[in-house]
Amino acid sequence: MPNFANRMLHAQPSAVIKVAEKVQALKKQGRDVISFSIGVPNFLPAKHVYQAAHNAIDGDSGTYLPGRGSEELVNAFIQCMATKGLDYGAHEVAAAVGGKQALFHILMAALNEGDEVLIPAPYWTSYPDMVTLLGGTPVFLHCPSTQNYKLKPEQIAKAITPKTKVFMFNNPSNPTGMVYTKAEIKALGDELEKHDIWIISDDIYDRMIFDGETFHHLLHTNPKLRDRVLCVQSISKNYGMPGWRVGMVAGPEGFIQHLLTLNSNSITNINNISMAAAAAAFGGDQQFSDDSMAVFAQKRDVVMKALQGISYLSCPVPKGAFYAFPDVSAYYGKTHDGVLITDDITLCTQLLEKKGLALVPGSAFGEAKGVRISYACPSAQLERGLALFAEFFAEMRAQNKIAS
Ligand code: PLP
Repeated sequence: MPNFANRMLHAQPSAVIKVAEKVQALKKQGRDVISFSIGVPNFLPAKHVYQAAHNAIDGDSGTYLPGRGSEELVNAFIQCMATKGLDYGAHEVAAAVGGKQALFHILMAALNEGDEVLIPAPYWTSYPDMVTLLGGTPVFLHCPSTQNYKLKPEQIAKAITPKTKVFMFNNPSNPTGMVYTKAEIKALGDELEKHDIWIISDDIYDRMIFDGETFHHLLHTNPKLRDRVLCVQSISKNYGMPGWRVGMVAGPEGFIQHLLTLNSNSITNINNISMAAAAAAFGGDQQFSDDSMAVFAQKRDVVMKALQGISYLSCPVPKGAFYAFPDVSAYYGKTHDGVLITDDITLCTQLLEKKGLALVPGSAFGEAKGVRISYACPSAQLERGLALFAEFFAEMRAQNKIAS
């Protein structure tokens, strides 16, 4: 058999998808499993979005369209960006098959073999794998729970080398739910102004912010960075449409041209029906999205109340997205039902085996002290799952004779 490409030697399938597959397999065996693992927002888009998709089917949706996106989609997207104080022209945007492919193509256009990419950790699980697949070297900037999982400018300064090519920034964050304040963004932006590198701003959760706080962007605080920033957007989370697979990039024209070249040689264009639905989501009434954010904020409160009731766990309060990332490391080295819990992986395995509760181990996100809870599931499941989570740690404390 012929060899596979060397780049595949280090490529891993997404850890989140692996957990989701395990959950499906257990469910098929008849096990009652609650999943806090996958990042599906669990709300449906509004009628006007479906209507736009239906209209596209009924019209002529069978032809090739521009790789940049249909005129309707591009206009709706730039209008949506303008409402966020981010002004782009039609020549400065490109469509992609979800935020994931947008990120992949941006890295493909930016990286040469051996180029370094700065990635704050915890990070979204696919970032390092994408970088490695494309010949780059991920450089992790560790942001522990004691610094609220947030990056400090001095960490960028320390990590920069002549090989640094890209900085990846995700706000609000998957997996921690952290949201940077304006002052924090400005401090990072001031540091980034000193280094001639590309900046990927993964903003796909930017509508999901709680407690009346606002989304701040590097281009609000540091507009000088505009020539180097690639803004990544998606309808997956903000509009509850992950399966429709639409992402968008806004950035400097020269960079966007490369993304269009990649599109024209790979996907040609994203599918026309999804384009029409995405145009309606970006450009239409945003109420359905706002209503869902209010529900997420309530669920966040339910999660935090449960976590705060579990001794020896610490969890910075998530201010956005739909994830919480408790530090569970105080329980490492203890046993549960005779099994030694050495790390996040043994802990998640035992939780799944014994309690039927699926979480993603923190090491999939570059922080092995934590586990990720995705709380976008229906409320009844959320309550049950949190009760099982609390019960698991209560059992560990009782079995290891640890005071509560
Ligand atoms: N970026 C982050 C931080 C994510 O969490 C995800 C999905 O979970 C993506 C990008 C990719 O999203 P999609 O390809 O569904 O738009």
